Amino acid sequence: MLSIAENLEAVRQRLARAATCAGRAPQAVGLLAVSKTCSAEAVRAAYAAGQRAFGENYVQEALDKIHALADVRSELAWHLIGPLQSNKTRVVAEAFDWVHSVDRLKIAQRLSEQRPVWLPPLQVCLQVNVSGELSKSGVPLHEVAALAQAVAVLPRLQLRGLMAIPEPADSEAAQREPHRRLHACLMQLQAQGLALDTLSMGMSADLEAAVLEGATWVRVGTAIFGARAPRSGLAPQ
Ligand SMILES: *Cc1c(COP(=O)(O)O)cnc(C)c1O
Repeated sequence: MLSIAENLEAVRQRLARAATCAGRAPQAVGLLAVSKTCSAEAVRAAYAAGQRAFGENYVQEALDKIHALADVRSELAWHLIGPLQSNKTRVVAEAFDWVHSVDRLKIAQRLSEQRPVWLPPLQVCLQVNVSGELSKSGVPLHEVAALAQAVAVLPRLQLRGLMAIPEPADSEAAQREPHRRLHACLMQLQAQGLALDTLSMGMSADLEAAVLEGATWVRVGTAIFGARAPRSGLAPQ
């Protein structure tokens, strides 16, 4: 089995190749290492290999790791990419740098109210449902503009862009389709005057397709940390 450092290097090479194919600078695409279900030791191994941005899905599990890596906190960026319930917004506003999964105004308002004044604004993306009825989470495309305008004015948040988790697809052409829709949606918001610069899209299986369509964060778990054990019997955070 390859080490986390070797896996990371392989993912960086995939990203660089995809960026070159797309005519984009490799630095234009950030790599978010998705460490959900991984140990704090695994996160530290990735840190030792130069990784600085980590994505987590489950709030309590993330807090444990943020605590375990407190000695290097100032070098790290912690991103929440999983569903967020309103009873968890306070700890999230206090502990994370980014939230990619905002899909309701109420959650955004709470995050803004609860973001401590001594921290920079919380960086947020709206999670968009680009796969239609197939997918349960995310704002429907036709509601994104209204939500974006409302979130953009919240004082303690900085709205950065959009995130999506498309349905898995086999061919690169089919993978590119939902990513292209998300990019088009971002451009519409930019045309409406919102200063947005972030497209969080692409995972282990489809990061090339996402980079070709303009991803600025790809969220990669399995290709870095290996296959995850199924998370059974637990309610979503
Ligand atoms: C788990 C997860 C990922 C990473 O998926 P892999 O296929 O393991 O790369 C990315 N984004 C979200 C929202 C996830 O929940």
